[in-house]
Amino acid sequence: MTKKITLLGSTGSIGTSTLDVVRHFSDSFSITALAAHSNIDLLEKQIDEFSPKLVAVADKTRAAELKKRRPDITVVAGPEGLEEVASHEEVDIVVSAIVGAAGLQPTVAAINAGKDIALANKEVLVAAGEFVTTLAKEKGVKLLPVDSEHCAIFQCLQGEDTKSVRRLIITASGGPFRKYSTEDLENVTIEDALNHPTWSMGAKITVDSSTLMNKGLEVIEAHWLFGVDAENIDVVVHPQSIIHSMVEFDDMSVMAQMGMPTMVLPIQYALTYPNRTKGFLAPFDFTKNHTIEMFPPDTKKFPCLALAYEALKTGGTMSCYMNAANEILVNRFLNKEIRWCDIPRKLEKLMEQHDAISNATLETIIAVDENARKEAASA
Ligand code: NAD
Ligand code: MG
Repeated sequence: MTKKITLLGSTGSIGTSTLDVVRHFSDSFSITALAAHSNIDLLEKQIDEFSPKLVAVADKTRAAELKKRRPDITVVAGPEGLEEVASHEEVDIVVSAIVGAAGLQPTVAAINAGKDIALANKEVLVAAGEFVTTLAKEKGVKLLPVDSEHCAIFQCLQGEDTKSVRRLIITASGGPFRKYSTEDLENVTIEDALNHPTWSMGAKITVDSSTLMNKGLEVIEAHWLFGVDAENIDVVVHPQSIIHSMVEFDDMSVMAQMGMPTMVLPIQYALTYPNRTKGFLAPFDFTKNHTIEMFPPDTKKFPCLALAYEALKTGGTMSCYMNAANEILVNRFLNKEIRWCDIPRKLEKLMEQHDAISNATLETIIAVDENARKEAASA
């Protein structure tokens, strides 16, 4: 029996890597549904190769165009369409790989329908960690981390009593500006920010990696996935990205998970969990990649990391607000409206304006997200 998959965000970096894994393990996995924002040219190629039963296109005009091109397949559109493919009755697991809080509602729909989630979209947990983890528990749904750091921690925790966890140590590559001076950082360009030293990813996460916001989002994600408080989650800069993250236990033993910086392994692990399967990655050669450096992160030069810790400590809707505001500021930077160094400056001011709401419902979370987007658009 093959595991049937809905892939949300199939045209993105995680989406296409997921399809590489599915292609390799075609006896074990099949694609029931694909979903993307608007790249229907790539979506059509994916339809030809993976023969899904239905596809969702978030952009309604592009959805109508695809419908015309492909009368042979069911095309659903808009946010409702995303929810429909996420909760399709035949599906066993949903790969949540849309970028940003746009992935929240389809992921919630999948959990409500009892689907296990392979979660790449960290913004889901940053925006609505308490809501989503409580719902997943209620529905008996597994949240399998695909983010490489969280997949590493998840692997280190297999067979362990989580009560004996002392500290999570999340590694960060440090991004392209690790060695930049404060003055250099005033004038970085979009091209500089999109040039990540070790990982090839979508634009938004690549900019987040350059500001260290990505690491901040990952600290919040780790809190919700593993139930560890902010005080016990540390970040270390490890430029080689060989150690994907670590867990320190009460006896001071530290477990690390290592390998090449590739998302294939975390995706494969989430899809084959709890088993390990022979894949298509080359073995890691420690004699060629023998340098493992570790540095503390510099939150003066990269304040976004500190802002994320603050949001987590504040609790309630603060991290939802921060996440949505950050999405808009990153977009404005990519549209050349603001400078790179304006992202943390504007974000800090915006967060000061938000009064966090505790025990928020999904409706409240969505309203806070929308409000943050409005405020960040004109900040
Ligand atoms: P990407 O920009 O390459 O792809 C994003 C995908 O989401 C695309 O398929 C796009 O069509 C879809 N999408 C965007 N907005 C949408 C909307 N409103 N409705 C429906 N679909 C929409 O991004 P990515 O790098 O693949 O990242 C995806 C998620 O995975 C992000 O949350 C990111 O933080 C996380 N992640 C990525 C990596 C990586 O290596 N790329 C690693 C860890 C975690
Ligand atoms: Mg990561």
